[in-house]
Amino acid sequence: MDSGTPLIPIDPLGLTLARFECLAQSAGYSPDQALQAYRRVFREGSGHTTRGQEWARPSPGPIQSQLVEDTPEGPTVKFLQRVAGVAGTPLADRIGLEELSVESVLIPMIGRLGQRSYTLCVSSQVGCALGCAFCETAQMGFIRNLTPAEIVAQWFAARHLLDRRYEIRNLVFMGMGEPMDNLDAVLEAIRIFCDNNGPALGASNITVSTVGRIDGIGRLASFVTEPGYRRLGLSVSINAPNDEIRSQIMPINRAMPMDALRSALLEYPLRPGGKICFEYVLIPGINDAPAHADELAEYLAPFGKWTRATMPRALVNVIPYNPRRNSPWPAPSETQVNEFVHRLAQLGVYVKRRRTKGRTLMGACGQLGVEQIRSRRRIMPSLGGVPIA
Ligand code: SF4
Repeated sequence: MDSGTPLIPIDPLGLTLARFECLAQSAGYSPDQALQAYRRVFREGSGHTTRGQEWARPSPGPIQSQLVEDTPEGPTVKFLQRVAGVAGTPLADRIGLEELSVESVLIPMIGRLGQRSYTLCVSSQVGCALGCAFCETAQMGFIRNLTPAEIVAQWFAARHLLDRRYEIRNLVFMGMGEPMDNLDAVLEAIRIFCDNNGPALGASNITVSTVGRIDGIGRLASFVTEPGYRRLGLSVSINAPNDEIRSQIMPINRAMPMDALRSALLEYPLRPGGKICFEYVLIPGINDAPAHADELAEYLAPFGKWTRATMPRALVNVIPYNPRRNSPWPAPSETQVNEFVHRLAQLGVYVKRRRTKGRTLMGACGQLGVEQIRSRRRIMPSLGGVPIA
């Protein structure tokens, strides 16, 4: 046995290769041995043994359940993975959570040549503090941030632990939580996802989705100027055409209104031809009127118009509302969605509509939340001292 062999095997899930190598070296392993171990963990999903000693081992939380819903593109899979609870903390005394789960969703896509691949929607927090009115996760309140290892473990589970092995092509931070509220861990997870000897996802295949935290957008703007991350995707849940409606359904808008958000986004360093994706959850009676489409088009005008000769720097993704439990609003009809999309297109907005996969799984955007704990009261209803709920 090497003199420095770790008593507990090193878990690479929260480590880039460079950091893993440092730990491996201090345990007496060479850079080459570290490289072999790292690749084995991510590519084969198993631990690594050198001279009879298993010294590198992934430790993802176990899968607690998985739900599969068939769609025309293939099965959509939602799975729950266990993470450590908050036992022993003041929070546990108040709400009694000894073990927790995070939810992730695999969404199938069919490519131009007919091949199927998956987008993995990952969570960055257990619960969320931001209280969006249409969101299932908001019902839970904020419980805790996930670590980089817990974020990467969701990819590991989808790749190596589920009943089937899924080819994950894209990854979106669109599950439970606001990524900008846990940005250090999210950025570290992105470094690991992009590690060529690890998951080896391209930055262009990863999207960070935010409700529009301007401070976080500024930090992400610095991150994407680092080599290798320029093509990282940015998506903003806009969901409203004006401050009045947005503040009603997204409390963060009271602290960071739409004008300030747009200014930050116009300064964001997009790659040539790149676009910011604006998510618009269409809620009947709230934000679906023709006048709302007109206002939204005007708001987005500084990003440019969609014509035969020009592409704007903004893409609007219209998502039919997927009613959360006890929702005061219904889902929109096909006609309502189509009319809104067509009006935007006529106004020169580059717009797509997203099919709602996972309606019965409650696994679409803003719809994640663990049933056992979602009925608990909300925690931390504030944002930098500004009340948001
Ligand atoms: S939509 Fe996102 S930011 Fe808003 S409450 Fe839900 S998880 Fe949080």
